[in-house]
Amino acid sequence: MKNIIIFGAPGSGKGTYSDEIVKRYNMGHISTGDVLRGEIKNGTELGKVAKGYIDQGQLIPDDLMIDILAKVYDENEPGRGVIFDGFPRTIAQAEALKKMLAERGHEMGIMIELVVDEETLMTRLLRRAEIEGRADDNEETIKKRFEVYHQKTEPLAQWFEKEGIRHTFTWKGSKEQMLDEIFAGIEQLN
Ligand code: AMP
Repeated sequence: MKNIIIFGAPGSGKGTYSDEIVKRYNMGHISTGDVLRGEIKNGTELGKVAKGYIDQGQLIPDDLMIDILAKVYDENEPGRGVIFDGFPRTIAQAEALKKMLAERGHEMGIMIELVVDEETLMTRLLRRAEIEGRADDNEETIKKRFEVYHQKTEPLAQWFEKEGIRHTFTWKGSKEQMLDEIFAGIEQLN
């Protein structure tokens, strides 16, 4: 199985679809958001630094993020495909990911872009706030995260386009339909 990068705005379903893909293809799963929340929960130094950025809806600095990613990637079972969820979020991170994988004789594989309208995203995130109580799921921080997404992350879609691995899936109101399309896409590309 190739590596997969799942890409999209906050609330676009990266975590949800990653879980389904991981189950179906028995892949490794690296969610940088989950890694950071774990560090915060454990009260580590990294967690303390990360919390300051996450609570403001800002990105953790690239250097720090790239080091964390390489460390977590190397803990994955060798030879097993990995789904990268929430990474890369900047061009610098994308370049670093490509380099890190090449150094290990690996490739990026497939980029899956989830496109969802902003009204649906906001509704989902506010609902998630009620269920999961994530500190950064409040209206003010969500708006900041959208802004950061548009500014720093969205331009990356073009970067993946140039790499020839961008595959876009647009929300049409049904999770099942989205999932069928994503699975069909992955199977065609593997
Ligand atoms: P997520 O769970 O993917 O929505 O991530 C939650 C928060 O963690 C983001 O709003 C960022 O503050 C931080 N974060 C997660 N992944 C990254 C990344 N690749 N680069 C920088 N910050 C990140």
